[in-house]
Amino acid sequence: MAILPLAKPQEFLESAVLYAPFQAPLETVLELIDYAGHLDLYCIQCGMDSVFKPSDRGAPIALMASRPIPTSERVGFAIEQGTHTKRFACTRNRLHPASVTFVVLAPNTVVKVGQYPSREDRSRAEARKYRSLGIDHDELTRASGLAAHGIGIGAFVYLRRIFERQMSAAAAKKTAAETSWDTTAWGALRVEDKIKALAGYLPAFLVENRTLYGILSKGLHELAEEDCARHFPAVDLAIRMILDEVLAAREAKEKQEEAKRALSKIQSEVSSKK
Ligand SMILES: [Zn+2]
Repeated sequence: MAILPLAKPQEFLESAVLYAPFQAPLETVLELIDYAGHLDLYCIQCGMDSVFKPSDRGAPIALMASRPIPTSERVGFAIEQGTHTKRFACTRNRLHPASVTFVVLAPNTVVKVGQYPSREDRSRAEARKYRSLGIDHDELTRASGLAAHGIGIGAFVYLRRIFERQMSAAAAKKTAAETSWDTTAWGALRVEDKIKALAGYLPAFLVENRTLYGILSKGLHELAEEDCARHFPAVDLAIRMILDEVLAAREAKEKQEEAKRALSKIQSEVSSKK
């Protein structure tokens, strides 16, 4: 299993995937164990993002001893302790808890084994706005769920399906609008050229960032599970930007139709008075 580099302790606590080993210098591992800063997490009870402050700091290992303990010894002690849980409370309401549990496996290696609220809770809440998109919403939440559990390749599969669905929908629209359009020639194009040919029918963000398809495909065929999990937040965001455009276009169309109906009603009223 590939080992991921451990970023800042706060980042690890907030967003590292579960069960993937992270590697860091001894000092960073100790910073993580002693972390007494805040976390920015989604609070399930508040139903929104919140700042969480440590609810029980515990005594940092260094403060418990009467003599300065060398770093290596402190890490050795952390390994002996095995599981470490950092507890936090929502600053809006101290009774809204958050906690992160990790295991120090070796002097340089930590694995997150639990998180509440989970990364999935936030993305599920954020995905609610896509509910009207049906299968796209379902697969988006499934992708987040898999990624939260370190199943990065599976998560990429669902995101690619959403991407491909946009392409088929755009191709269907173009076929309906342009009767002379040669679909056979289009079918033989490379994916990037297929996307370019559908400009005007696809969300602009997708056309501009068509390399996303290549990244998702690389995930399916070449990237390791850990690479996919690590890149997931960025590709997930890109897919959400595409769906945002789909939603906005749908809303604009509905408003236009509503306005058209209202105007024609006025028109018929006005003309009947003549
Ligand atoms: Zn809260």
